Amino acid sequence: MMRYWAFLVGKLAGIAVVLLAAWRLVHVIWPGPDPTLRYKMQPFGTDLGYTMALLGIWLLGVGLVYLAILDQRYRCRACGRRLHMPVSSGAWNSILLRAPRTDYICRFGHGTLRVPDVDLTGTPQPDWHSVDNMWKELEDLETADK
Ligand SMILES: [Zn+2]
Repeated sequence: MMRYWAFLVGKLAGIAVVLLAAWRLVHVIWPGPDPTLRYKMQPFGTDLGYTMALLGIWLLGVGLVYLAILDQRYRCRACGRRLHMPVSSGAWNSILLRAPRTDYICRFGHGTLRVPDVDLTGTPQPDWHSVDNMWKELEDLETADK
C-alpha cells in the first residue's frame, strides 16, 4: 500500500518539476515589465502571448494530473504495477441484475480490481479485492469441491 501511494506522490512531483520548468521557460522568454517605465504593467492580462503561455501551462498541469490519477486507478494497490488481463463480465441486456463490469488482475497475484462499465449511481467506484495467498485460495476451492 505504501508503494502505491509513493508512486502517486512521485508522479505528482515529476509533474511539478515539468510545470516549474515550463514556468521558468516562460519567464525567460518574457522577462517582465520594462524597468525604465514609471508605471510597471504586469504582463499577465496585458500581454496576450504571456497570458496564453500561462493558460497553456495551466492546461498542461490539469491534463497531467488527470492522467496521473487515471493511471493510478488501474494500478495494483499492493505493488503499484499496472493491472493486466481485463475480463468483461455481466450482461448489457440485464444491467440491473448482472451489471457489466471489467475485472483486472495483478500479475503477481496481489488482488483484483472490478470496474463497473455502467454508471448507475454517480461516479463508478472501482472495487479492489486483495488476495492474501492465491495458492491457498486455490487449495481451499479444491477441498471445497470434494
Ligand atoms: Zn501487485
